[in-house]
Amino acid sequence: MVYDVIVIGAGPAGMTAALYASRSNLKVLLLERGIPGGQMNNTSEIENYPGFPAILGPELAMKMDEGVMKFGTEKAYGTVQSLEDKGATKLVHCETESYETHAIVIATGCDHAKLGVAGESEYAGKGVSYCAVCDGPFFREKKLIVAGGGDSAIEEGIFLTRFADQVTVVHRRDTLRAQPLIQKRAFENPKMNFELENNIVKINGNGQVVTGVVLESTKDGSKREVACDGVFIYVGLIPLTEPFKSLGITDERGWIMTDDKMRTKVPGIYAIGDARAKGLRQVATAVGDGAVAGQQVYQYLTELAKA
Ligand code: FAD
Ligand code: NAP
Repeated sequence: MVYDVIVIGAGPAGMTAALYASRSNLKVLLLERGIPGGQMNNTSEIENYPGFPAILGPELAMKMDEGVMKFGTEKAYGTVQSLEDKGATKLVHCETESYETHAIVIATGCDHAKLGVAGESEYAGKGVSYCAVCDGPFFREKKLIVAGGGDSAIEEGIFLTRFADQVTVVHRRDTLRAQPLIQKRAFENPKMNFELENNIVKINGNGQVVTGVVLESTKDGSKREVACDGVFIYVGLIPLTEPFKSLGITDERGWIMTDDKMRTKVPGIYAIGDARAKGLRQVATAVGDGAVAGQQVYQYLTELAKA
């Protein structure tokens, strides 16, 4: 069987591309390595997606997933390892299966970046976490550190105050990167503290669980230990684009380069959402990219059929 289009990744971008393409009566396969929803599954509350004043990330993921199958999209489980471009047909290779298609939409998104300090991997799952939604409830009445100054760190830090007694944000500069509204809420929250102009240089533990972090001042280099029960790390994103690098479609940092029609430089291969080189990584922009790609694939296949 040859699909019209294979969409790789069932985050908001991929689900939207699959919806648009299947609604155009194309034969669509949506490949996902985990559960549908992507990063929305690790998001506490989303309040900037139109139509929902506030909705839990996993709930929005479920709602989007419900609509995907409506027009006949097929779903398969698998982690894509590589792509093979043979012109009018292309191969998508997963660990054990390979699939044939005329067009591909890459929607593999991002993973969280690591801090890269001593103790981080040793205590992962033992106090070090990258997901407040998943692990926050384990830290009731505890003291937590959040690393980073962006939207994720500050929003998820605020979420963690539902459980923890104290949440201290450690950020390397003297100003936060997060949107002003989110910053305001954080500064007004009595459970939030801030260690600005500091880096976490080590995560300490007792062999079983995290017991503290070592902070280093970015002003004078002085170090001190701060006791805590958990460390939540939100220091940015890395693109999940390794399987596509051999096609020469990524920039020096691994983001996939496209034009405004979501086309990569390989005809019939599109990229959307957070995996793409772009300025604003949000659910709304991921969905917008997906709609454009779904429609573009239809036009590409129409031209291909005429040739
Ligand atoms: P993703 O959501 O990353 O989905 C990509 C999917 O591809 C994943 O399901 C993954 O498993 C799959 N995949 C990856 N590699 C492969 C492979 N090789 N084979 C098969 N499948 C693969 N945005 C907002 O608008 N509002 C918010 O409030 C908000 N809060 C956020 C909070 C946090 C903590 C984080 C991390 C992000 C937040 N964002 C928010 C950003 C938003 O979640 C992302 O911009 C959006 O999810 C990107 O969608 P995507 O479909 O491009 O990628
Ligand atoms: P981000 O915006 O890239 O912020 C990463 C933060 O980590 C920055 O404050 C950065 O510091 C810091 N950092 C990076 N490397 C570091 C290191 N090695 N050591 C210490 N600190 C380090 O990432 P994000 O917050 O995960 O957000 C990712 C995307 O998702 C953004 O587009 C964001 O807007 C979106 N998002 C949106 C919402 C929302 O709309 N409500 C919520 C969450 C996420 P500097 O500031 O000094 O660079």
